[in-house]
Amino acid sequence: MNKFEQTRARFHVPEGVRYFDGNSLGLMPGAVASHVNEVVTKQWAQGLIRSWHEAQWRVLPQTVGQKVARLIGAQPAHVVACDSTSANLFKVLVSAVRLRPGRNTIVTDADAFPTDLYIVYQVARLFDLKVVAVPAAQIASHLDEQVATVVLTHVDYRSAEIYDMGQYTRQAHGVGALIVWDLSHTAGGVPCNLEADNVDFAVGCGYKYLNGGPGAPAYLYAAARHLDKCEQPLAGWFGHARPFDFSQDYTPAEGVSRFLCGTNPVIGLSVLSRALDEFDGVDMQEIRARSVVLTGQFIDGVDTELVGLGFHLASPREAAKRGSHVSLRHQQGYGIMQELALRGYIGDFRTPDYMRFGFAPLYNNEQDVCELLSEIKLIMDTRAWDKPAYQQRRDFT
Ligand SMILES: *Cc1c(COP(=O)(O)O)cnc(C)c1O
Repeated sequence: MNKFEQTRARFHVPEGVRYFDGNSLGLMPGAVASHVNEVVTKQWAQGLIRSWHEAQWRVLPQTVGQKVARLIGAQPAHVVACDSTSANLFKVLVSAVRLRPGRNTIVTDADAFPTDLYIVYQVARLFDLKVVAVPAAQIASHLDEQVATVVLTHVDYRSAEIYDMGQYTRQAHGVGALIVWDLSHTAGGVPCNLEADNVDFAVGCGYKYLNGGPGAPAYLYAAARHLDKCEQPLAGWFGHARPFDFSQDYTPAEGVSRFLCGTNPVIGLSVLSRALDEFDGVDMQEIRARSVVLTGQFIDGVDTELVGLGFHLASPREAAKRGSHVSLRHQQGYGIMQELALRGYIGDFRTPDYMRFGFAPLYNNEQDVCELLSEIKLIMDTRAWDKPAYQQRRDFT
């Protein structure tokens, strides 16, 4: 059995389901169920408050951060897991802006994931800054000495296009600005190297390719060179140097731990921690190679088996520019995705007409891709997408 058939075997795939949504909510690793049972029945029910020390609850944000670090090219000590991606973006963006006083602009991708834009606009409002939101390709032409920070997502959530981390980071640094990267569709699906590319700050999601479960804690990276000067705005007691001194004065913790805020969700962190162990023994280059095979196989199949049926590839054809999902556009995309779901083929849909299929390297395989292509073909040949129920769009598809 090859390595990825072994990792696949460790995930729970529901009966009758073919899953292509690991870019949105990863499958559950089987071992998580028994681990969470132990966390609640032993560490919580029996250990109670003693478990902060005895079960190492106290350092879970750092322990989980260390496991994520390897996947994103960071030093283990420079990542913590906590809060949501949105909250973490707020914390690092405010910190970045404070490191560039006197500059009045944040530059970002106009097509970014909406939550990132909402946070950018609020930070701008708080600090009286201007937001320049333009397509990513135009960012370079909007960089000047007034720019405090650039905020970008490494892998686009709709198209799966990979933005060149090294190049954008150098361009931002070239005008003296800092850069914040969102790695939500990167970690666990696409390699990156934050240290080599000299990235200032990064944030990302725990529940997508990292399989941390619904609402899993997110993670946050800060470059060592900024840490002792960094002032994050949600300065809660868990980010204090000595939280259990109960001092009335705030002294930030050494290192990236200063980005913690309040009491961390122990159960969620425990689940994410166990889920990350599924990456043990797999390096990111292997993940990448596997991802390129699967997305490439799907695109080839669209070209040959679905030709002339109205599908348009909305992801880069060039493997080097493509993340681990593939988006197709189709006028009937919504109905096709609904019909696929009815048949147990789960991908997702993003307005106005994007059909997204995630290929998670740890558990999707060639057989999944073949079956997906055949099912789409069957739905098209029989016009099974054409049902009155699919005229009405529901939320959360
Ligand atoms: C999924 C995703 C998020 C999610 O943010 P949360 O606050 O954790 O819900 C944010 N940004 C991007 C780019 C994403 O893809």
